[in-house]
Amino acid sequence: MDQRKMSSTVFFIPAAREDGDQVLAEKAAEVFLRTGLTEQIDDKSFVAMKIHFGEKGNTGFIKPQWLMDIIRQLRKKTSRVFLTDSNTLYVGKRSNSVEHLHLAWDHGFTPDIVGVPLIIADGLKGGDDGEVEVNLKRVKSAKVGSIFLHSDAMVCLSHFTGHGLSGFGATIKNLGMGCASRAGKLDQHSEVHPWVNPKYCQNCGICFDHCPAEAIITKEESAFILEEKCISCGECLVVCNAGAVKFRWDSDTVRFQEKMSEYAYSLMKALKGKISFLNFLLKITKDCDCMSEDEPAVVEDIGILGSVDPVALDQASVDLVIERSGKDILKVGYDVDWSVQLQHGAEIGLGSRDYQLIKL
Ligand code: SF4
Ligand code: SF4
Repeated sequence: MDQRKMSSTVFFIPAAREDGDQVLAEKAAEVFLRTGLTEQIDDKSFVAMKIHFGEKGNTGFIKPQWLMDIIRQLRKKTSRVFLTDSNTLYVGKRSNSVEHLHLAWDHGFTPDIVGVPLIIADGLKGGDDGEVEVNLKRVKSAKVGSIFLHSDAMVCLSHFTGHGLSGFGATIKNLGMGCASRAGKLDQHSEVHPWVNPKYCQNCGICFDHCPAEAIITKEESAFILEEKCISCGECLVVCNAGAVKFRWDSDTVRFQEKMSEYAYSLMKALKGKISFLNFLLKITKDCDCMSEDEPAVVEDIGILGSVDPVALDQASVDLVIERSGKDILKVGYDVDWSVQLQHGAEIGLGSRDYQLIKL
């Protein structure tokens, strides 16, 4: 997996939303086939297609119709193909599997369109995970959705966007953050434990019963988290219906990006590198698809890129975005050094920043 010294191949096909669904599906499949994943799977393989179904109100997410030809190609090899994402840390429509799936259906990921099942990767409320030991600088053991640990191969489908904490979000973010369970997301987003805001706490006791570490006590008629006992599982965040349990978003963008790259590494390790990555540089917005609004594109559509190297793919994508914009448009949205995720990814052996771009 150590690709630090090698130059990786990235395939690129120019594309725009105006091409229409059918042409975009054909182009996506053309890039996908060049990554060679189909040669590594057989009729027994479970293949997870990792995607972001889009937050409610968001319109930038990858459309189900664009995946049809990839799904067809995969199903020629195995019937065990499914679409998946993990639940969110923040409370919303994607923080539990039931509402998450309803939202996915609302966004067109229905059986009659995609023809494959949808499975949420980390269980009903995001607690169904497993650990991957990596022993890296910031992450020793990554907590990821159990579905990914039981899959034989993955197609990681990412919409390239800007992002407030990482400058941009694409494959490394989709892999590292997007495959993490609730505890894994908490691990990446926060340096400290959750806390209870007494203003909203109704002292109902529900979180006491769910806390696996007996870390919650009553203090002045409110729940109170004992930091020395808390194991940051995030269970209390999910079970509190009063919205009283809070966590502090980590504003250190370097730490955040390094953790994200290390989590991405854990997925490469778990799936033994059997992952094909695709970046969709279509409707590139200032923020990611977790935003519940219709944001305008900040640069014209560029195309679809694919690789088996997540670092090379994101590096090539960011280079194309900057070239097309004529400036570092990612720094216009947020003043974040986005190169940290790439540099750290290269340093830990996630991939290479050197690449050869092959235009299809
Ligand atoms: S579940 Fe929420 S409201 Fe109930 S005790 Fe815990 S923090 Fe307070
Ligand atoms: S994060 Fe987990 S261990 Fe910590 S207080 Fe909440 S439920 Fe308990």
